[in-house]
Amino acid sequence: MKSNTMPPVEPMTRTLRSGPDAEPYPVQAHHLLCAACVRGGCKNPPCGPAMIEKLLDVLWSYPHVPLRICADTEVVRVHYRKLYEKRGGRFFPRDFKERKDAFAERRKDLEVCRLLGIYPNTVLPAYHAYQILFSRLRTLEGMCRGLSGDTSVWPECPCSGEGFYERIAGTAREISYEEQWKRGEQLAGEGIWAIIRPRTHAEMKGEKERSAAFIINKAGRLYIRPNHLLCILCTRKMEVLVQDNLVELRMRMEADPDIPVTLVEGCCMVCDPCNVYHAGEHLCYSTHPKNILRDLRMLEILGLPPGATLPARRLYKLIFDKIPDVKTVCGWGDGSNTSPFWKPCADYQSAAVKDARKEGFLQSG
Ligand code: SF4
Ligand code: SF4
Repeated sequence: MKSNTMPPVEPMTRTLRSGPDAEPYPVQAHHLLCAACVRGGCKNPPCGPAMIEKLLDVLWSYPHVPLRICADTEVVRVHYRKLYEKRGGRFFPRDFKERKDAFAERRKDLEVCRLLGIYPNTVLPAYHAYQILFSRLRTLEGMCRGLSGDTSVWPECPCSGEGFYERIAGTAREISYEEQWKRGEQLAGEGIWAIIRPRTHAEMKGEKERSAAFIINKAGRLYIRPNHLLCILCTRKMEVLVQDNLVELRMRMEADPDIPVTLVEGCCMVCDPCNVYHAGEHLCYSTHPKNILRDLRMLEILGLPPGATLPARRLYKLIFDKIPDVKTVCGWGDGSNTSPFWKPCADYQSAAVKDARKEGFLQSG
């Protein structure tokens, strides 16, 4: 496969690298940039096309692949007197000369770690690494187009002035889940979707039809993650949502307020048609740890364990009694935003809980 032509978009299935116990894939931090360059048309990244093609295959195979994002900070621990005066000190590390001389790469690796807000050699899932990277580094100015102006000492990559990276990262933008669902594989090649594989529209449409019909016509019990019970309140005036099943679950509970609802920690009946739901791994790769924390905060406030089952009406009565607003769960109580993958929901200040309580949502009868 040539990596600067987009690979085919296939259904989301398991891969060797996607299991819960998969080993992190090691990547030199600035090679994340080279991967974007290659997608933007670069044929000769300095580390060689084969290495970047392999990286691109790994990234494309699973959006949440754990990456160990590496920068060599250990090579500088040889004492300067040993290095420059040949006196005493500890042994040189393996491949010392080659590693010491890679100072221009080391600077870029550390710049990438800095932009990501991580300590070198930290593990971060691919989707989040690129979400952060493309929002914070739109061009290679000051990165591969260097700082010195003297390329005899600090070499610049010959590919850095061609606009390859910018063709991908420079056009990255927030795309709503609804637009992701509607466009499916047509997203491939745009911003982060040049690196991360979108689901096909046909797959999501098929899942929407199947799962929505099951919720409305067949399900004798609903499985809902606690956090989504609040999302159902935020969207309770909506008639249609193609990208998830919040509306169908609300309609089913309105039709049958005593239907049992089991509170699951993790993805639930809401998620089947969503672009960022990985069906093969049963995982939301956009919000995985954040939504688990929200689930657990909510369960603790309600005094329930994961797996508790209550009639929908009683469940919402408990929510109205114990949860004053969505900010308590979706905004961490204080609206704090400690990193891009922990940021509060955009609607965390909504009055949805208060309004739904006043309206008596599911409480009549
Ligand atoms: S310009 Fe930078 S990111 Fe692009 S191939 Fe060269 S070294 Fe890699
Ligand atoms: S939790 Fe994730 S997969 Fe589920 S509906 Fe929300 S965004 Fe989509």
